[in-house]
Amino acid sequence: MRVLDADFMVVGDGLAGAVLTWLLRADGAVVRLFPGDPARAASRVAAGVLNPVTGKRLAAGWEVEAQLASAFSVYGQMEAELGVSVLRRVPLHRFFLHPSEEVFHAKRLEDTRYRAFLSGVRSSEEPLGGFVQPRGFFTISGAGHLEIPPLLDALSHSHAEAGCVEAAPFSYARLDRSGPGLIYDGRIRAKAVVFCEGIGVLENPWFGSLRFRPVKGEALTFTSPELQLPEAVFHHEKWLLPTSNGRFRMGSTYDRGISLGEGHRKLRADAFSPSTDGEAELRGSLPKMFHTPPSMHIVEHKAGVRPATRDRFPYAGPHPEDARLLVFNGLGSKGALLAPWIASRLVRFLRHGERIPEPLRPERFGLTPI
Ligand SMILES: Cc1cc2nc3c(=O)[nH]c(=O)nc-3n(C[C@H](O)[C@H](O)[C@H](O)COP(=O)(O)OP(=O)(O)OC[C@H]3O[C@@H](n4cnc5c(N)ncnc54)[C@H](O)[C@@H]3O)c2cc1C
Repeated sequence: MRVLDADFMVVGDGLAGAVLTWLLRADGAVVRLFPGDPARAASRVAAGVLNPVTGKRLAAGWEVEAQLASAFSVYGQMEAELGVSVLRRVPLHRFFLHPSEEVFHAKRLEDTRYRAFLSGVRSSEEPLGGFVQPRGFFTISGAGHLEIPPLLDALSHSHAEAGCVEAAPFSYARLDRSGPGLIYDGRIRAKAVVFCEGIGVLENPWFGSLRFRPVKGEALTFTSPELQLPEAVFHHEKWLLPTSNGRFRMGSTYDRGISLGEGHRKLRADAFSPSTDGEAELRGSLPKMFHTPPSMHIVEHKAGVRPATRDRFPYAGPHPEDARLLVFNGLGSKGALLAPWIASRLVRFLRHGERIPEPLRPERFGLTPI
């Protein structure tokens, strides 16, 4: 059998694998990409909000300025080269729902780092899309909205046209690590393989023992003839945003009970299925969000699993016992923001020997020996 020489194999074509493959190809590498099941890709469920300031404490994440710059630059280049329009800079309006948020907001405004992102309190007198706003709201600038499914479709098409897509998912049993290079299925020789499997990593024999705290999330796409909202992301009881085709997206739920516990490799059977409870929770939040709740005609209801980690830092880098096996995972709720920056760091590591930032080391909680 003729052996095909590649630089790298990439496993999984969610946002992590698709962006990494794009950047490796742009740097001149020869890649073999193994696509997965789109019904199991969190990336196909995600709202695609790029939000620099998150959580109850309104915290700006580690390296968020660099991550935002990388996201706008990489997705912008993809738009230009692939001929798609998927990325918009949009304001994110966040409503105060609890007194503690007002306290954190005031504290953050004293910090110069946050002044680039946070507006002051905007009065509850300022009408905003019919939302209930007992305590007013504030606006986060620097945020964005990425329409992920059309971007993934365009990337898939580009990778296929370049002839670098495999027909079937990756089979761990077919990887031969006995020689100096890796041989897959007796027909592909590569220097390294990068696993970008989202929560599918739990089945991976080399990285399945990484510490994950998987969180199921459900989101709706709906139409509503009477709902008129400007282009923005609205963060209230749930997030809500108008999309480019006149629809609305709303999410999401957080179900942390889908794994049998940290270290367990099995998820509940319904982990990837939309549920009636999820729909009821999302629908039920509309009366809390609007003075006059708009009608909701559901077009799509999806569920996915966020690959969240114990310390909320992603995993990126080589296995400590075999540097030819690498992982790119743990993007949690922030894949749209994080994927370009981390993928760029991986490309610099794989192609130019640069160091990967210490907090991303996969072995930081230990890994079962291989
Ligand atoms: C409801 C919801 C809302 C969200 N909203 C946002 C948001 O607004 N902003 C944001 O940034 N993030 C959001 N996220 C999080 C975001 O979806 C994730 O951070 C991101 O999509 C993870 O990307 P990934 O490529 O690592 O994993 P995935 O998208 O899950 O992709 C992994 C892929 O690998 C494949 N795979 C697994 N095993 C194999 C194998 N052996 N061979 C080949 N392929 C394999 C899988 O089938 C899958 O296709 C949200 C998530 C959910 C569930």
